[in-house]
Amino acid sequence: MTTHKDLIDRDRKVTFHASTHLRDFAHGDAPGRVITGGKGIHIVDKDGREFIDGFAGLYCVNIGYGRTEVAEAIYQQALEMAYYHTYVGHSNEPQIALSEKILELAGPGMSKIYYGLGGSDANETQLKIVRYYNNVLGRPQKKKVISRQRGYHGSGLATGSLTGLKAFHDQFDLPMAGILHTEAPYYYHRAAEQEGMTEREFSKHCAQKLEEMILAEGPDTVAAFIGEPVLGTGGIVPPPEGYWDEIQAVLAKYDVLLIADEVVCGFGRIGADFGSHLYGIKPDLITVAKGLTSAYQPLSGVIVGDRVWSVLEQGTGEYGPIGHGWTYSGHALGCAAGLANLAIIEREGLTQNAAETGAYLQNRLQAAFGDHPIVGNVRGVGMLAALEFSADPALRRHFDPSLKVGPRVAAAALEENLIARAMPQGDILGFAPPLTTTRAEVDEIVARAERAVGKVTDALVREGALQTA
Ligand code: PLP
Repeated sequence: MTTHKDLIDRDRKVTFHASTHLRDFAHGDAPGRVITGGKGIHIVDKDGREFIDGFAGLYCVNIGYGRTEVAEAIYQQALEMAYYHTYVGHSNEPQIALSEKILELAGPGMSKIYYGLGGSDANETQLKIVRYYNNVLGRPQKKKVISRQRGYHGSGLATGSLTGLKAFHDQFDLPMAGILHTEAPYYYHRAAEQEGMTEREFSKHCAQKLEEMILAEGPDTVAAFIGEPVLGTGGIVPPPEGYWDEIQAVLAKYDVLLIADEVVCGFGRIGADFGSHLYGIKPDLITVAKGLTSAYQPLSGVIVGDRVWSVLEQGTGEYGPIGHGWTYSGHALGCAAGLANLAIIEREGLTQNAAETGAYLQNRLQAAFGDHPIVGNVRGVGMLAALEFSADPALRRHFDPSLKVGPRVAAAALEENLIARAMPQGDILGFAPPLTTTRAEVDEIVARAERAVGKVTDALVREGALQTA
């Protein structure tokens, strides 16, 4: 029988993995794991060890694991018609039905959808649409895109450039020219309260920084702004009060398109169909992926608003068919999975559950960690939450990065059979369980997290990295 170790050893020889120390993994010095199954909020590895997946994969398995209804839908579609391309007007029934459903959820002002396979390629499409839009409008110089420090928008050359995390730029010669990063809406991190700035004032400050950047670059050169309604991979940071209103006012003033990257927030994660709905964001373009299929199939999409759509129509009137497309756009199996997934979200009221049980999760985390000696900030919205560790919560002092507090807590959580994610920048532990999570499961997640944080706290005291605990 193939053992877990055999599989991992074979894996080390033939593959490499994202966010992994490549040499250590290849040479057996970094851990591997083979996942073989899952049910609800749990996953199981080849040894039969069961974990609570407190991060729903990469915040994507929103309906939980092992949903046979989705597997059936994919199977039936594969029997009937697994694939035909969607170039030159070809379509398939699930693509049409899924598009109707997404546009219904997105609400007024949204016109059309084009599909991809993941968030990165969808944002690549967005960047091309933005260029095309301004070329058609006769503004070829209006091409720069402003993203945010700590934003996450993908891992390609252009989308990795949009991403505002150092690890995704270093050694890759990124960001590319024409992509800029403005200040992150990170109220806690900036220790703004200590400077006596209210959340609202901080939002104004962020908008002012954006405006200064647009003016410094020249408004006629700035085409678009991209942001996640809630900053995700950069630290799970809900926007400060009034942030999106302030930002949108600046964008409107300089005729800059707004791309809402809803890859994480879309389809219920934060207790609304779209994160934009929660914060009064009126995007010109929306990016979706992850929760669209709950990762049962790879599928992403760009949703194009009316204002941009009319220009795209005009453009093809002038220049002919659009020179953009993916072989697998609108893949029938992905769209079938998406339809089955959205049907489950609707039928089981999972968006509502994300709001209600999500609020319970936030409260439980606040109760457990609000006053903890190594936790500086407990934050989140819906089923998206984070603990930010601090060497001195009162002074918001960071730990020395070499202590690797975030990864150590994630490792300690794993010992408790809880998966929570050490976010890539800073000592931040993220939670994003499936939207099916119950209150009892929240209690279990928080209990395991408490034990994990407790263990690391004790170790830090022993190491002399903390004065008291
Ligand atoms: N946009 C956001 C907000 C994301 O969180 C991610 C991935 O985590 C992406 C885009 C990129 O998606 P993918 O990894 O599917 O390319």
